Amino acid sequence: MSSQCATMPLPADYHMHTPLCRHAVGEPTEYAARAVQLGLTEIGFTDHSPMRRDDFDNWRMRADQLDEYVKNVRRAQREHPALVIRLGLEVDYLPGQEEWIRDLAARHPWDYFIGSVHYVSEDWAVDNPEMISRWKERDAFEVWSVYFDWLTRAAATGLFEIIGHADLPKKFGFIPTEDCTPLFENFLRTVKKADMAIELNTAGLRKECREIYPSPQLLRLAHAHGVPITFGSDAHAPGEVGADLAQAVALARSVGYTEQCRFAQRRRRMVPLA
Ligand SMILES: [Zn+2]
Ligand SMILES: [Zn+2]
Repeated sequence: MSSQCATMPLPADYHMHTPLCRHAVGEPTEYAARAVQLGLTEIGFTDHSPMRRDDFDNWRMRADQLDEYVKNVRRAQREHPALVIRLGLEVDYLPGQEEWIRDLAARHPWDYFIGSVHYVSEDWAVDNPEMISRWKERDAFEVWSVYFDWLTRAAATGLFEIIGHADLPKKFGFIPTEDCTPLFENFLRTVKKADMAIELNTAGLRKECREIYPSPQLLRLAHAHGVPITFGSDAHAPGEVGADLAQAVALARSVGYTEQCRFAQRRRRMVPLA
C-alpha cells in the first residue's frame, strides 16, 4: 500500500518572515533551502512591514531596511532557481495607515501584500504575549468586534491581495461566548467585494488555541461567499517552513475548496489545490 500523503504536493507557502523583524531567525535563503527539501514548488516572503515611525513598536524592520529585505529575498531567488520565490510583505493595517501603505507599495515590484490586523488600538497588538494582561481587562466580544471592524476596513481599502490570519484574537484562547457570525459575514462580504483572498495560516496550531487561522466555521462561510484562499506557515524559522500545510489543505477540502490562489506582480491566478 502506498501512502498518498507522502507524494501529495504541498500548496505554496505564502507567509514567512526574516530576521529583520527582530523576532525571526534564519536568512531567506535558508527558508528556501528548507522549502526545496520539503518539495515545495513556490513560496513567498512576507516580513512585517515597516511603519512610518520606526519607534511604533519593536517587532518589525525599520523603514530604511526595506531595500535590504528585498535584497535578501533576491539572493534567495538567485540561490534557488528551481523554486518560485515571491516577494511580499505582511502589512499592518490600522485606520489611517492607507497613505503609508500606498507609499510602501510604490517602492518595489511586490508580488502581493498580506493585510493583517494585529492592533486593536495604537498601543495593543492582540497577539503580543507581553500584553496578555490587556485581555483580562476587556470583554472578549468587544475586542473581537473592534478587531473584525478593523479587518473589514483593511479589506475595504483594496490595498492588499490577501487578508492574514483572519481570527487572530483567538490565539491565547480568549473566545467570546457571543455569536460572531455577523462579524464574520460582514468581513467576508467586504473581502469578496474587494476581490481579495484570505489565508489558511497554520501558526495557530503552534499557539494556545491549537487551531488553524481561520476556524472551520469562518472558512466554511468564506467558501459560501466565494472568497478564494492561500496557505501560509507564518514561519519565523527555517524549520517552520511548510508546517502543517497538508492539514490546512485537508481543512480547505473539507469545506469545499478545490483551488488556491497564486500571485505574481500583484495579479492573481487560480490553480488546483495541491
Ligand atoms: Zn512575526
Ligand atoms: Zn501576522
